[in-house]
Amino acid sequence: MYYENDVQADVLKGKKIAILGYGSQGHAHALNLKESGLDVLVGLREDSNSRSKALESGLTVKSVDDCVKEADVVMVLLPDEKQKEVYDSQIEKNLKPGQSLVFAHGFNIHYKQIVPPEFVDVFMVAPKGPGHLVRRTYEKGSGVPALIAVHQDYSSNAKDKALAYAKALGSLRVGAIETSFKEETETDLFGEQAVLCGGVTELIKAGFDTLVEAGYQSEIAYFECLHEMKLIVDLLYEGGFEKMRYSISDTAEYGDYRVGRRIVNQEVRNEMKKVLSEIQDATFANQWIEENRTGRPFYNQVKADELKHPIVNTGKSLRTMMKLEGDK
Ligand code: NAD
Ligand code: MG
Ligand code: MG
Ligand code: MG
Ligand code: MG
Ligand code: MG
Repeated sequence: MYYENDVQADVLKGKKIAILGYGSQGHAHALNLKESGLDVLVGLREDSNSRSKALESGLTVKSVDDCVKEADVVMVLLPDEKQKEVYDSQIEKNLKPGQSLVFAHGFNIHYKQIVPPEFVDVFMVAPKGPGHLVRRTYEKGSGVPALIAVHQDYSSNAKDKALAYAKALGSLRVGAIETSFKEETETDLFGEQAVLCGGVTELIKAGFDTLVEAGYQSEIAYFECLHEMKLIVDLLYEGGFEKMRYSISDTAEYGDYRVGRRIVNQEVRNEMKKVLSEIQDATFANQWIEENRTGRPFYNQVKADELKHPIVNTGKSLRTMMKLEGDK
């Protein structure tokens, strides 16, 4: 792990840092780096909705072309599926020897959608958390842990730059780990598909459906399978399996040991291995690129179907009654 004390000379002091994009990660990086004393530019399209937000926060906004022309360090915080197009049309032609091209996720470099010239440094600073947490924790004097990786080291101090960037972002307050673009990309995709996003939502849905089909009230099914998930996850986050199992009743703990392995059984584990190999051999990446090229038929269809699932409306009315934040 790397912490603040591991950063010697401040290699980014006096350098211009361009943050391309002002979304989840972009706004957090731009504001944290600026408040850490770095010289920050934000690169956006003329018609971007985020332009006024960035200007209101006192940031300088320019076109992507101008940002790349002026900056020493260019952090690409555009949606992964749009990075290639923006790189091809507005970044590549403006790159100069000695500049740094930085990413928060390795997808485009690892799957060779973007192949930068040999005369720039290419590295990654990937916070392991969503942008609003990167910002909120920084404001509280803490940070979100990050992964750093060097893909191309033209200047011979790309790693120092990555550490200095991670420090300014607040991540070295809690620690950064060194990885490779390959490891970050493959583990990030696997985690979100099999466990965090795909795994968790289907687990919740299967539990909810089982109770509702058996005649139980959908509100009760929602509380048991979705709402209480947060309480369990908070305990896991604070103290791992041990703290969660300490906190639950022995009845719950016995049921956990007796049933967990029947749900996530060998068949599920075998499928996880298949999912991982589709990430490793670029099957997933190629499908996602093709999906975007053809107007996202699968993505749009499943997104629409998911909104029709009864858990959506059950949740909406319960959250309104509980006055939980987050529903518009
Ligand atoms: P986002 O969708 O929230 O924001 C993207 C920004 O890019 C928006 O401001 C959008 O207006 C702008 N943009 C889109 N197309 C553009 C174009 N053609 N020209 C100029 N600007 C354009 O994206 P995000 O979630 O912040 O993701 C950015 C990067 O960070 C990705 O590489 C992602 O994998 C990585 N990342 C995200 C998270 C997360 O939790 N969201 C966590 C770690 C890493
Ligand atoms: Mg989204
Ligand atoms: Mg991730
Ligand atoms: Mg991801
Ligand atoms: Mg219970
Ligand atoms: Mg207990």
